[in-house]
Amino acid sequence: MKKRHHILGVDLGGTKILAAVFDERGRLLSREKKATKPELGTATVINRVEECVHEALAAAAIPHTEIAALGIGVPGPIDPKGEIVRVAPNLHWKDVPLARLLRKHLDVPVTVVNDVQAGTMAVAALGAGRKLKDFACMFVGTGLGGGIVINGELYKGSTGMAGEVGHMVVVPDDGPKCGCGNRGCLEAVASRSAIVRRIVNEIEDGRKSVVKQLCDGDLKRIRSRILATAYRDGDELVREVLHAAADYIGIGAANLINVLNPQAVILGGGVIEALGDRLLPRITKSAWAHVIAPTPQRVNIKDSGLGDDAGILGAALAARQLVG
Ligand SMILES: [Zn+2]
Repeated sequence: MKKRHHILGVDLGGTKILAAVFDERGRLLSREKKATKPELGTATVINRVEECVHEALAAAAIPHTEIAALGIGVPGPIDPKGEIVRVAPNLHWKDVPLARLLRKHLDVPVTVVNDVQAGTMAVAALGAGRKLKDFACMFVGTGLGGGIVINGELYKGSTGMAGEVGHMVVVPDDGPKCGCGNRGCLEAVASRSAIVRRIVNEIEDGRKSVVKQLCDGDLKRIRSRILATAYRDGDELVREVLHAAADYIGIGAANLINVLNPQAVILGGGVIEALGDRLLPRITKSAWAHVIAPTPQRVNIKDSGLGDDAGILGAALAARQLVG
């Protein structure tokens, strides 16, 4: 019998599921994608995760008997044992025993991790944080999450919740409602959901935008890539909304810089992957307008270098730790 030495890394987001197979040296063998469809309920989402895993295994031509472990990143707090998803607002989940359910169906050891904490570990091990001891990450996707590395280690806080950068309040009065229940959080004004919500509202109010044609009239289909195309086409509405989001992300970065004095603030996630080259200068400018006592060596604000793979890489690192 062949040794089990391959690893599965899964990134379960509010919009899409990514599943990847890695060999024993951490090389990516295959990577498959599927829409999450959280509105169809927990059981369906878990089925779709399993389908995506099987597709990734088939694409790599690896039988599941050769898998040593599976790591899965989920957008929300996880119990310290890596078994249960406590809350995941973008999936409408509460206390889901995800590790047990996946183990039952896939018959491999499973560990569940917070997606952005895992992504931060991937940035530290393989991305733009590789040579840094102190940095903060911000991942801009369906939601907006992050992670903090202090002295080379992920800072988890007293109850494991540290790094919720998306819930820094940036619009104190009458800001838009956030998934967490508060108002004016960074996530509520700068995540892709927030960006899309604003664009859809404006289009429904009669504003013209190329986005409508790009998504064939179905405004539910607006993804980061459509936003990037519209931005490059010079679409006025998309530019206005994305610039406002970039200014807020800059404020968030400045808050992190002021509090933590990091070597870098590293940006990732679907929005940054699709639009980072266009938005980074604006984010940086906004951050510099809000940092205190800028030091001669300015803190670097940069791309993670991992594209959309930070989540699957971080989940795979966690799975690798599970089996030693
Ligand atoms: Zn919030």
